[in-house]
Amino acid sequence: MEGMAIRLQNLRKSFGRTEAVAGVDLEIADGEFFSMLGPSGSGKTTVLRMIAGFEAPTSGTIELAGSDVTRLAPFERDVHTVFQDYALFPHMTLEQNVAYSLKVRKVPKAERLKQAREALASVRLADFGTRRPSQLSGGQRQRVALARALVGRPKVLLLDEPLGALDLKLREQMQVELKAIQREVGITFVFVTHDQEEALTMSDRIAVFNQGRVEQIGTPAQIYERPATPFVAGFVGTSNLLTDDAAEQVVGDRGPYSIRPEKIRVLKESAVADEPEHSSATGTVAEVVYLGDATRFLVNLDAGGRLTALQQNLETSSEDVAAFRGSRVTLQWHRRHNFHVPEAR
Ligand code: ATP
Repeated sequence: MEGMAIRLQNLRKSFGRTEAVAGVDLEIADGEFFSMLGPSGSGKTTVLRMIAGFEAPTSGTIELAGSDVTRLAPFERDVHTVFQDYALFPHMTLEQNVAYSLKVRKVPKAERLKQAREALASVRLADFGTRRPSQLSGGQRQRVALARALVGRPKVLLLDEPLGALDLKLREQMQVELKAIQREVGITFVFVTHDQEEALTMSDRIAVFNQGRVEQIGTPAQIYERPATPFVAGFVGTSNLLTDDAAEQVVGDRGPYSIRPEKIRVLKESAVADEPEHSSATGTVAEVVYLGDATRFLVNLDAGGRLTALQQNLETSSEDVAAFRGSRVTLQWHRRHNFHVPEAR
């Protein structure tokens, strides 16, 4: 099919009695930044390794750009994999590191130097070509690994937690950079992560994995605002479910409903005005966490269960916040934020 970079059909993989991948169907478009998100052991790395050709599926098919590659060796597939432990050759300059795969393919020297320089420029390391890996920061080394993957101009780049080794600050910078680089080079990225914020920040679309299956595929906004299952609602963002009796009392049926914490206002019990468009629930503040720009409230509801509310600290100080602990409050949110979560499939 035109415009389709990858298609997986009923892909399965068992290791002995463990069914690591239990029937996955996915279509990834050309030029897409596609993330596979899920907890440890949910099967995302195994799917990535099957796309790369390092692992043979137990059953199912893999198409790349419309051709069935299920039985092809890794080097026969137009993909490149970037691993978390991006081993660079320490004795080579960055240019030599990046040009290495071209050398193996016997690309003439002048041409491979030109391509290596272009690749280094695309990851904003144009002036670093004659340095060695030991003279770089962690983030710069990560970008060299990326340049090395980009130099052969693969159609698809597979990335397995490539930012996992970086500290938080660098990781956040690289998320923005990686997304910008991907947009510039226009290559399809398939990105494996267990970090929901990372997936939400970078992806055009996300597949949420659980126990070897895909629970939902969608844009970051769809995944966040309209979780398809209770698992997705809990794994992406703060789990904030109103269920059973509490849902019955507050919303009118037994749910489950997902309400995102930032939609909920925390009001002193006495200050509540009746608003017909709003849902509200009374309760007691169990915990208040001052986060600098915002405050997180954990509230035990009188109707049963607990909700988290996140308030921007517009005019609130940390002292105001502390005074809320143990106090009676009413939580209020617009009814449109009651999202009924379908039951697990
Ligand atoms: P992580 O984020 O921890 O890497 P993941 O979602 O990528 O997790 P996989 O690595 O795909 O998960 O593993 C899925 C399941 O398959 C796990 O139960 C794992 O133990 C099992 N598994 C993976 N590779 C092998 C293997 N080579 N032999 C046996 N079992 C394996």
